[in-house]
Amino acid sequence: MNAIQDNLKAVGERIEMALGRAGRAPGAARLLAVSKTFPAAAVQEAYAAGQRCFGENRVQELAAKAPALPSDCEWHLIGHLQQNKVRQALGYAAWIHSVDTPALLERIQLLADEVGAAPKLLLEVNVSGEESKFGFAPDAVEAALAGMPAGPAACVGLMTVAPMGADASALRGVFGGLRQLRDRLQSRLGLSLPELSMGMSSDLEVAIAEGATIVRVGTAIFGHR
Ligand SMILES: *Cc1c(COP(=O)(O)O)cnc(C)c1O
Repeated sequence: MNAIQDNLKAVGERIEMALGRAGRAPGAARLLAVSKTFPAAAVQEAYAAGQRCFGENRVQELAAKAPALPSDCEWHLIGHLQQNKVRQALGYAAWIHSVDTPALLERIQLLADEVGAAPKLLLEVNVSGEESKFGFAPDAVEAALAGMPAGPAACVGLMTVAPMGADASALRGVFGGLRQLRDRLQSRLGLSLPELSMGMSSDLEVAIAEGATIVRVGTAIFGHR
């Protein structure tokens, strides 16, 4: 086995252990392999080991890499998306985790309709309130969902990025906060928001304990960037 295969196996085991400790069903959290900055050949190795879901931060890199991989790869855009890149993003991304303004939501619906795409969307929430972060303020998410323009894209949940270097209790606060926000939105708006995208290489166990359904892991699979 090569390093990427070994790493995928190890991360898969970490996920299943964390699910077990949380009393959650096996497979209840999926692994998104974050391949940003790594070449298509590295993604190909992960593909050969059975991985199918890949995350990229930048539309340009996604557009360069995706065509080099088999068509049954599922690409997720996880980085900030500029309005003028939406059309290109929709050509490759089955999921967009980084929807962070009502205007972007509107633009995605408009262009998805135009190009015949039906992406799954997650609203990015800045739970920790860091100024440097993209994402909706927690108290702005309800209005964004209630006012979501009709169209082919479906909002299926929420995403957050924890602060760098946060300790376990701060991480629990952030991840648990996203889950509680999701629960509140579901009951207030009568919506189904099953997906919680949270947790990375260093904190996926805490995220899974707090209900993550998608963990976004780069370094622990592909190595340091
Ligand atoms: C890079 C990145 C990740 C993966 O981070 P690692 O620490 O390398 O696992 C996850 N989410 C987002 C939004 C990222 O930009």
